[in-house]
Amino acid sequence: MSVRIQPMICGWLEVDTKFILQDQPGRVKLPIPSFLIEHPKGRAIFDSGLHRELQKGSERLGGLGRVFKVYYKAGEDLAAQLEARQIAPERIDYLINSHLHFDHVGGNADLPNAKLILQRREWEAAGDPELAKRNGYNRADFDLGQQLQLIDGEHDLFGDGSVMCIPTYGHTAGHQSLGVRTANGEEVLTADSCYMRKVLDEMVLPPFAHSYDDMRKVIERFRAMERAGARLIFGHDAAQWREDGSPAAAL
Ligand SMILES: [Zn+2]
Repeated sequence: MSVRIQPMICGWLEVDTKFILQDQPGRVKLPIPSFLIEHPKGRAIFDSGLHRELQKGSERLGGLGRVFKVYYKAGEDLAAQLEARQIAPERIDYLINSHLHFDHVGGNADLPNAKLILQRREWEAAGDPELAKRNGYNRADFDLGQQLQLIDGEHDLFGDGSVMCIPTYGHTAGHQSLGVRTANGEEVLTADSCYMRKVLDEMVLPPFAHSYDDMRKVIERFRAMERAGARLIFGHDAAQWREDGSPAAAL
């Protein structure tokens, strides 16, 4: 059985580098990816990009709108990109969010029939007023009445080991990554447990984390996966994407 990944970029954010990597100078432009995973038993989306409203202005971000500059055009949102591939968003079976920050859940509203698969710890953090505030969680992005499956740790989506939720707690309380076995080998979609190559190689961490100890352990684990031959697709690494949103190397 073959599994296919179709990567999409659902907007870009520009920010002072120090806001995402401790003490680093300059500005950085961040691709906001979403992935369509097609398996003979169903279709899944891993992370859903920016909310379509951000194509018109950044009001939805509240105070974060002063930190992030948004580059996001009509047609770049997840629903539009699925439709361009002749896939009705209503026909997506599973929606897996790495975590609930705004740049990973913006397209959730467009997948009404997808079962939402989250780590229980992430959902509980979103329900904790103090953690929700610290993380800038916006319930309007993700508390939408979809069927919800809360998982604890590793989860085998189709029961054949080809699409695995991998707990990578640390960036947030219940962050998860996704391991996908394709015809090209093992791909690991790290999401924000590893923003970019520099984080993996130099262990430069963000200025905020739920647990730095856990983040470091996760990065060590990614290093071991890469040595074992897995290909890592990072959370926000511009070097892995072209300006038009296509991946810089085949997935
Ligand atoms: Zn992110």
